[in-house]
Amino acid sequence: MDKRLLDILVCPLCKGSLHMATDKQELICKLDRLAYPIRDGIPVMLVDEARSLSPEEIH
Ligand SMILES: [Zn+2]
Repeated sequence: MDKRLLDILVCPLCKGSLHMATDKQELICKLDRLAYPIRDGIPVMLVDEARSLSPEEIH
């Protein structure tokens, strides 16, 4: 995914910045502990589609 695209994406819940997961398949909001999926290179910025993260997954 384009780094510049990541710069303009924000979490739809808290409007905070996101972090790329190490496997590059998810965008992570540390504040909400949610991971938004990236499907075919396109981030799905929907809370309904997001996965809840355990504290161990947040670095
Ligand atoms: Zn958030």
